Amino acid sequence: MINSTDFFKVQKLDDDLYVITEAGFVHFYLILGQKKAVLIDAGCGFEDIRPIIRSITDLPVMLILTHGDPDHSYGSQYFGDVWLYQPDYGQIMGFDTKHERQFMAGLGVNFLKENNPKAIERFDSNAFAEKSLLRVLTPHFLKDGELFDLGGKTLEVIFTPGHSYGHIMLLDRVKKRLFSGDMICDFPIIFFFESDRNGPFSMALDSWKKIKQLEKDINDIYSGHGQIPITMDYVDAYIECFSGEIQQNYLKDKPFSTPLGRGYQHIYKTVNIQYSDKRLEEFLGHKVERVDL
Ligand SMILES: [Zn+2]
Repeated sequence: MINSTDFFKVQKLDDDLYVITEAGFVHFYLILGQKKAVLIDAGCGFEDIRPIIRSITDLPVMLILTHGDPDHSYGSQYFGDVWLYQPDYGQIMGFDTKHERQFMAGLGVNFLKENNPKAIERFDSNAFAEKSLLRVLTPHFLKDGELFDLGGKTLEVIFTPGHSYGHIMLLDRVKKRLFSGDMICDFPIIFFFESDRNGPFSMALDSWKKIKQLEKDINDIYSGHGQIPITMDYVDAYIECFSGEIQQNYLKDKPFSTPLGRGYQHIYKTVNIQYSDKRLEEFLGHKVERVDL
């Protein structure tokens, strides 16, 4: 019996696969082999995830990050050793500031207000904001195509930059499962950060095409946010969208604004992208002129 906590909801999806959902919006995955386990992403780190993992398995656990955004990486605080694609170590360090941590602590408090107001006293948002990953992380850099043998199960690294420059996915070809981070999801994908954090659309399109080539080895896609699992139809929709559809229709996109940033939102079939015009202009190769109502 696995108990959920103030922040974490745990679900067993299969004998070798658990999903842990933190604060109702970010998923990470525990995958069990015979010799070791892999945790894909570590969440916001609002609580120490280790007791939950220990209630599931005694195997040694290796933490692999799909990318360095704080909602996936702050939880690596509790591990020390972390495997990721090199450019996203910069992403992690860029977000490793008190200011960014205060923002995330605010999200944690909001979540508790809605879901478990009594737990607010147990969550020390000041202590959370004072933490630093720089002092505790030992990064290990992944390579595209690298294989991790968990004992009776192999995970393969697929380099898929776009949402960030060092984004990766992990593929279990035997179970036909793809762990897609924030590059394929039933949730808005952010492309409105500065250009050192989000890559160009053309880079993302190449990544989706790369995944399309692996189609015969993929049935279920487990992403970092939103409904799970999803299917290859999502990948088809991204490819269609950036192979002509967005070029035709971007002027109809509506503006949005969040505390994280502002820009426009493009929705097509299952595609949901929040982007800046800088990103769009670079993709289109010309200036974007809009007349907002
Ligand atoms: Zn995310």
